[in-house]
Amino acid sequence: MRRSPIQRNEYTKRNSNGISGVIELRLSVKSDYLHVGSGSSTYRLVKKIDNIDALVEDAIEGNIPDLSAYFSPKLHLMTKYSNGTFIIPGSTIKGLVRTRLELSIPGSCYIVSKDASNTSQTYRNIFKPRKKPRDRFDPVKFPKVCPVCDLLGNSGLASRVTFSDFVGEKVNSQNVKVRGDEYECVTKNSTFRGKVVFKGLKSVEIGMLLYGFGFRIGNNTITSKTMLLGRFKFSDRQFGRVQFSLVNSNPNYLNYLKEFVSKFKPLDFNEEW
Ligand SMILES: [Zn+2]
Repeated sequence: MRRSPIQRNEYTKRNSNGISGVIELRLSVKSDYLHVGSGSSTYRLVKKIDNIDALVEDAIEGNIPDLSAYFSPKLHLMTKYSNGTFIIPGSTIKGLVRTRLELSIPGSCYIVSKDASNTSQTYRNIFKPRKKPRDRFDPVKFPKVCPVCDLLGNSGLASRVTFSDFVGEKVNSQNVKVRGDEYECVTKNSTFRGKVVFKGLKSVEIGMLLYGFGFRIGNNTITSKTMLLGRFKFSDRQFGRVQFSLVNSNPNYLNYLKEFVSKFKPLDFNEEW
């Protein structure tokens, strides 16, 4: 398979002049379920323990009481704020955008996608990843970076874009059993709101950012594609399909996207396997 050499240019100084602004976005769940794991899990009590005395008695006698009937299978929790609001962390959203840009833009390096422990056949079928090195960066010794690192940073270089958490707006949830465990999921048509804040970008870089969120040009208007996110996205079609939309569109966005597409000739992937 053809490998494009990495296109490295001198990095943009973080205080450079350019366009600053905010893009407000909405994420909608298109599949039956979406699970973005918090990394913590619990067990639900499924029936009241009514014979505690007998169980304690049993334990005192040296037996291990069987409590399995009282508890649900392991329940993997979704990311939430402490007040219970479902969220998708900004770092997860940034990872999604960054992987798509690394895979789409010929001449970018891999920071995220290279380390992705993703060897699933579905992943390879969709994205056809190629082996690319990653950038090492040093403002004095190696000041050249690829276009994605220049926008979103890498170790040693700050991002020029900040991703907020996407906060549940209209959310329904359900615990779904997968291979013996339960997963706390948000269900189809749930929505989340979030934003990206950027500083000192060129118009073509705003176009790049929009492309990373799945925005495309169709019939001279901005369209949006389905993207994969969260657990089981490559193994179960009922999981992990999301779509972004713009809360406030800006007439310049279409031109920025066009400028990005004509300058970078990005690849596209159909993620609806
Ligand atoms: Zn890079």
